[in-house]
Amino acid sequence: MMRRYLLLACAAAAIAPAQRVVLDTSLILDGRGGTLRNQQIVISGTKIEAVAPRKAAAAYDLRGLTVMPGWIDTHVHLNWHFDAAHKYTGGRGDTPASDALYTAENAWLTLHGGFTTVQSVGAAIDAAVRDRINSGALPGPRILTSLSQINERSGDPDAIRDLVRRTKSEGGDLIKIFATTGMSAGGAQSMSDQQIQAACGEAKSLGLRTLVHAIGAAGAKAAILAGCTAIEHGSYVDDAALDLMVQHGVYFDPNFLVLHNYLDNRASFDFPAASFTSLENAIAPTAEILRRARARKVKIVLGTDAVAGAHGRNAEEFVYRVRDAGDRPMDAIVSATSMAAESLNLQSTIGAVAPGLEADLVAVEGNPLEDITAVRRVVFVMKGGRIYRNAARAPVKSTSVK
Ligand SMILES: [Zn+2]
Repeated sequence: MMRRYLLLACAAAAIAPAQRVVLDTSLILDGRGGTLRNQQIVISGTKIEAVAPRKAAAAYDLRGLTVMPGWIDTHVHLNWHFDAAHKYTGGRGDTPASDALYTAENAWLTLHGGFTTVQSVGAAIDAAVRDRINSGALPGPRILTSLSQINERSGDPDAIRDLVRRTKSEGGDLIKIFATTGMSAGGAQSMSDQQIQAACGEAKSLGLRTLVHAIGAAGAKAAILAGCTAIEHGSYVDDAALDLMVQHGVYFDPNFLVLHNYLDNRASFDFPAASFTSLENAIAPTAEILRRARARKVKIVLGTDAVAGAHGRNAEEFVYRVRDAGDRPMDAIVSATSMAAESLNLQSTIGAVAPGLEADLVAVEGNPLEDITAVRRVVFVMKGGRIYRNAARAPVKSTSVK
């Protein structure tokens, strides 16, 4: 207990923010679908105090850039990495030290790429890195973690309820389950209805959300009916599953980056050729399901399922969704900001450029509404009022402005 107090005291001292900071902007996409022009963002401590027309001297000039809320990736695996030979070993050969370092490295790459919050699902090492980031000792995004994953081999419903309770007591932020097999196995339901109900029911009773890996329709429907929170992938779900998502307020996260990332890094992943074929074959159906989900007004969030090779490139998900799947740029951005925040139950903390919210901001060169590849040109990243990346330009001289 004592140790905990000391840690908190040090953390507070380390991250005590410098009073008030003013940013000049010419274009803000507010994360809720709105566009604001020629505004100043006034930051006090860790929070946005005001968004208003220019009236004071600004410390940073972000005019000419597009400013957005810090992006949120609802599905990553921060501990996945290649080894020194650029091969994926599934963590074989890792020591606790290398595991921690790779995870911290991936966290930093992710933040540098404009993502100020991620949900990592999940490995136990996430928690240590999350806590070091929260203390101000390491640079990285806000991390929510499931610590582990539950699947059809996790035991009977009672054993699964125990696992959920243990995850909660060990500091997990959410539960992750596999309701279906993987893409190459066809995505059929793998956990029984009873197992899924045990996981999502117990999680809900403890105030935890449940993220569900579901490729095909049967597993997705069972999860939606069991009160789970979000469906990941969904490449082969049907319209009835999409309608159920709407009825039950379930979030949907079709992931493209993970598919492309495996294909782009074939040489590093020791998979059979048929697996790569099934990943490749899933791209077009995933795009089709995204379009149908949009038409049905499903609540769509942005997640990447970032694994080894994808950390720091999370923003490619925007490009795949908009350029290849026909998503509207503003919709994709809302998916990664206010809608993602709502899916994490953090809508009053993050996900918009608005007074009272945490000062999590990303600025890019160009306008992603006109050219979605602008999301690759991140030049400024702020999290909780603290600047982690600023290639924009030097701070403006603080001359007084009438
Ligand atoms: Zn995943």
